[in-house]
Amino acid sequence: MAANPRPLVAGNWKMNGLAASVGELAKIIKGASGIAADLMVCPPATFIASFVHAARGSTVTIGGQDCHAEPSGAHTGDVAAEMLKDAGAVSVIVGHSERRTDHHETDAQVHAKAMAARRAGLTAIVCVGEQRAEREAGKTLDIVGRQLDGSLPDGAGELVIAYEPVWAIGTGLTPTAADVGQVHAFIRKCLGERYGVAGGSLRILYGGSVKPSNAKELLTIVNVNGALVGGASLKAEDFLGIAGVYR
Ligand code: PEP
Repeated sequence: MAANPRPLVAGNWKMNGLAASVGELAKIIKGASGIAADLMVCPPATFIASFVHAARGSTVTIGGQDCHAEPSGAHTGDVAAEMLKDAGAVSVIVGHSERRTDHHETDAQVHAKAMAARRAGLTAIVCVGEQRAEREAGKTLDIVGRQLDGSLPDGAGELVIAYEPVWAIGTGLTPTAADVGQVHAFIRKCLGERYGVAGGSLRILYGGSVKPSNAKELLTIVNVNGALVGGASLKAEDFLGIAGVYR
């Protein structure tokens, strides 16, 4: 039985943001009070330390968008979970569909990254979701189940799951509320099988074209414990418009 965890609304800025973007973070921090949800911003790695500094003392936390599985070493261009932690991040997204597609990341690699997050003391936000053809072929639960099996970290502990249908990301399309509810209920069941009673209180976020106009419908579905927001998280007004569902 789900224990109704406190919702989380996390913004994934992807590869967007220059120095002026700190102004949007300031607006998010200002607007966060009175919202009964945890708010998180996941900016590009170049901003982690300065955003942590700017958000200190507020209710907004900062997360990374990806991490390497190793704690250090000869991996040019990569960022270790330990480095994100050292910079003040509390969380890291792993297995985002853009990483799975652009960098051919496998479930085994996502699992290793989720374990690295645990090792470093970060909460992994593990992303899963089907492609459009997979949904049309009626394979959504098979695909999501396989991704969960292969990607989730071993052992109960801090963890967030994000269900993000790949065809809904950045397209303006969203599944029906019934379809979202079906997948989230399935994920909840898988978490129970994997982690026992602890699986009932883990947060399962929905992600994919969430915006202020559809947030209420999506975020009030049973077993939807918040959102992972891409495009709409770049503007404080839109991000707060989504999180404001929890006011
Ligand atoms: C995402 O990339 O995690 C995402 C949900 O993007 P968008 O909100 O833009 O669909």
